Amino acid sequence: MDKIMPNRLDRGFYQYQKEFEAKAIEVLRSGWYVLGKEVESFEEEFASYLGVKHCVGVASGLDALWIAFRILGIGSGDEVIVQGNTYIASVMGITINGATPVFVEPDEYYNIDTSKIEEKITEKTKAVLVVHLYGQASYMKPVVDICKRYNLRLVEDCAQSHGAKFDGQTTGTFGDIGCFSFYPSKNLGAFGDAGAIVTNDDQIAVETRIFRNYGSEKRYYNKVVGTNSRLDEMQAGFLRIRLKYLDELAREKRDICEKYLNRMYNERIILPMIREGATHIWHQFVVRTEVRDELIRYLDEKGIGTIIHYPIPPHLSEAYQYLNLREGSLPVTEKYANRVLSLPLYNGMTDEEQEYVIDVVNHF
Ligand SMILES: *Cc1c(COP(=O)(O)O)cnc(C)c1O
Repeated sequence: MDKIMPNRLDRGFYQYQKEFEAKAIEVLRSGWYVLGKEVESFEEEFASYLGVKHCVGVASGLDALWIAFRILGIGSGDEVIVQGNTYIASVMGITINGATPVFVEPDEYYNIDTSKIEEKITEKTKAVLVVHLYGQASYMKPVVDICKRYNLRLVEDCAQSHGAKFDGQTTGTFGDIGCFSFYPSKNLGAFGDAGAIVTNDDQIAVETRIFRNYGSEKRYYNKVVGTNSRLDEMQAGFLRIRLKYLDELAREKRDICEKYLNRMYNERIILPMIREGATHIWHQFVVRTEVRDELIRYLDEKGIGTIIHYPIPPHLSEAYQYLNLREGSLPVTEKYANRVLSLPLYNGMTDEEQEYVIDVVNHF
């Protein structure tokens, strides 16, 4: 057997190769390449899939985040509450606008510990950014309540949670804005960069549409200083194909992870847990162990690749030294950064590959 990689994007392409290739040719021959009917159709279809009023395609997940905060008017002098153990893009989405991230520790499901949000609220707090990390929906009820009580905006980073739900409600629809990435490795992945903002607020949708295209609604009439963050026809076309199969793809990953959960057993490894009320779309299968280096080496010797999501928490990264948050300031976040490990997981993973990963982990 070839080495098993943590992720295999080519497998996802071959699953629907004919349709992707036909769409590429269709778009190439159409003569229209950026913001056109593929984008419009994708926006409608994705909004309907999520059960939200509006979807506005943008160029990436990071753009969705910073544009969301820009449209909400959150910037210099404002604070945004976010979990400490997220991917750094969540934090950059806040700081690009000049706002300050205020970190909250995660719970044992790797999502924000909702019991620790309130103590971080100051008069500068303007919003909470919830990240549904690794594909599991966060516990939303307390977050929604806190945001109402303190009059805070609620933004969701759904870059890893396409279609995940809490108490039956889809992530991205709980607050003011949901931000999506369709980077190729995400559960709904394009073949290049792509992202979207979703909202039930008509005004936010209109403003985002204008902002993403140089601040113009009508060509060459610019209402605001916007940006170029447009979704292209090729990516939108590919995303429409993947979206049709998204539930099927999610089921395939869920079956693999159920097998992992049922059959993996090793005293030194903590398996992921699912919170009651949440669904998990398994962007990553993340285990935790105090002997991570040893485990990585052992799996590698046996031909199994792994990856750490994420080895350096944002507050300790070089980019955020200016926040003056020292090592030890977020002990749970830092413990997770030192112990988490993502095992191989992807659509198109063979039974043989799955069995082998389970056997090797159990033998470690
Ligand atoms: C991938 C990701 C992003 C950024 O998306 P890009 O499309 O790469 O800009 C933001 N937040 C989280 C949690 C992500 O996983």
